[in-house]
Amino acid sequence: MNEFKHFINGEFIASASGKTFENRCPVDNSLIGAVYEAGRDEVDAAVKAAKAALQGPWGKMTQAERITLLNRVADRINERSDEFLAAECRDTGKPYSIARHIDIPRGAANFKAFSETLANHPTEAFRMDTPDGEGAINLGHRSPKGVVAVISPWNLPLLLMTFKVGPALACGNTVVVKPSEETPATATLLGEVMNECGVPAGVYNVIHGLGPNSAGEFLTTHPLVNAITFTGETRTGEAIMKAAAVGLRNISMELGGKNPALVFADCDLDKAVEGTMRSAFVNCGQVCLGTERVYVERPIYEAFLARMKDAVAQLKLGRPEDPAANFGPLVSLAHRDKVKYYYDLAVQEGARVEIGGGIPDMGAELNDGAWIEPTIWTGLADDARVIREEIFGPCCHIRPFDTEAEVIALANDTEYGLAAAIWTENSSRAVRVAEQVEAGLVWVNSWFLRDLRTAFGGAKQSGIGREGGVHGLEFYTELKNICIKL
Ligand code: NAD
Repeated sequence: MNEFKHFINGEFIASASGKTFENRCPVDNSLIGAVYEAGRDEVDAAVKAAKAALQGPWGKMTQAERITLLNRVADRINERSDEFLAAECRDTGKPYSIARHIDIPRGAANFKAFSETLANHPTEAFRMDTPDGEGAINLGHRSPKGVVAVISPWNLPLLLMTFKVGPALACGNTVVVKPSEETPATATLLGEVMNECGVPAGVYNVIHGLGPNSAGEFLTTHPLVNAITFTGETRTGEAIMKAAAVGLRNISMELGGKNPALVFADCDLDKAVEGTMRSAFVNCGQVCLGTERVYVERPIYEAFLARMKDAVAQLKLGRPEDPAANFGPLVSLAHRDKVKYYYDLAVQEGARVEIGGGIPDMGAELNDGAWIEPTIWTGLADDARVIREEIFGPCCHIRPFDTEAEVIALANDTEYGLAAAIWTENSSRAVRVAEQVEAGLVWVNSWFLRDLRTAFGGAKQSGIGREGGVHGLEFYTELKNICIKL
C-alpha cells in the first residue's frame, strides 16, 4: 500500500505517533494509501527546518542562482509529467485530458513565470531635496518574509500550491506546505523533485494532516511562521485569520465565490455557450472561478438555455484515463453529499430541474465513486440559498434579465466577489459593465484566460490581497526603505 510521508528538511519521514488517515480515489472509492497525520512535533520540526534553511546555502544564494534552481524544478516536473499526472488524477478523479493540459504544465510554469517577473522588476528609488542642498537618495530594498506557511485546497492541488510556492521561493523565502487531506500526492512528489534539483534541505517542506486540531491549525498557530498564504473556503479563511492575528503575521487569502456570468443578447452565442459550459462544468464544477449564476438577456434566454441543455447532455462521464471522457467525479464522497444536499435543496426551494439533478448510474465498477450529474436549474428566487451559497459542484442556475442596470445589481447581490464573465460583442458595454461588477477578476468573452503577470484575488468575502506577477512581491517580501544622505 502507498504511504504518504511528510517531507521535512529534505527527508521523507513518518509521524512519530504512527497515526494515519486513508486516501481514497473518488473514481471508485478504492484505497490509494495511508497518509501520515502530522502532530505538533512534526509541524514544529518542519517549521524549524524552514527557519534554519533561511540561514543556510539558500539564504546566501544570489537571485540568479535561485532562479536557475527554480527553472530546473519546473523542467523536472515536466520531465516527470506522467507521474504527476497519474498522482493528481488518482487523488482527484479528474480526466487526464484536462489535467495534462492544465494542472501539470501550469503547475510547472508557476516556478518559471514568477522568477522571470521578479527578476525583471525594478527597485524603487527617489532623490529628495534637503535643507543643506546636498539631498538624499531613498532606495527600496526587498528581503524575504521568512518562513511562509502555504495551505492549499484539493480542486487544483499542484497548480494552486505552486502558485504560492513558486513566488515564495523566488523571493527567497522557505515554505511549509499543508496540502489538502484529500490530495496529498503531488505535493509529496514535489519533495522528490526538489531533492533531485539540488534545492537545499529545509527550503520546501510538506506536512500532511487535517485542519482544526491537526496539521493545519498547528502550522498556522506556530510562532516561527512569518506569513500565511491560504486558498480555500471563506469560513476556513476566517479561522486562519484569527490564528494569524496572534503575533501579527501577514496573510494572503484566496477564498470562495458565487460567480456570475452576464450574457447579453448581442453576444456571440456559440462562444457564450462554449465558455459558460466550461466555466460551470470543467473540473466537475470544482473551480473557485467557476460560474454558478448565469444571467441571460431575455431575447436570447430560451435559445441559450436550450443550447446549454444540449451541451450538458453531450458531457461524457468516465474514468480519468478514458480519452473520450471530459467529466470526472467530485473529489470525495463527503463533497458529493454536500453537493447532493444542494441539489435536493434546489427542488425544495422551487427550482425547475432542466437537466441532471441526481446521481448517475455508472455501473457496478464505478458506482461506489463520487459521481454526480451535471445540472442546470431555472426558476429560483434571487434569495434562494442555492443562489446565495457556494456549492462548488457541476451546476448552475440560469435566469433571464431585461436591462443592464438590473443584471449588474443581480451580479453584485452576493457576499462574494471573486470572478465574473461578461458575454457581449459591444466593447463599450463590456468595459462599462466590467467596471461596475464587484469582483477581483472579470473576463470578457472568455473565462480562465490567465496571464501569470496579472493580479489574482477576490473582492468582498472572496479574499484579501492580490497574488500573481509583481503583486506577489507585496506579500512575499518585506519592503525596506534605505534613506542615504548625500
Ligand atoms: P477548505 O477551506 O476546506 O480547506 C483548504 C485547506 O485548509 C485544506 O488544506 C484544509 O486542511 C485546511 N484547513 C481547514 N481548516 C483549517 C484550519 N482551521 N486551520 C488551518 N488549515 C485548515 O477548502 P477546500 O474544500 O479544500 O477547497 C474548496 C474551497 O476553496 C472553495 O470554497 C473554493 O472556492 C475555494 N478556492 C478558492 C480559490 C481562490 O483562488 N479564491 C481557489 C481554489 C479554491
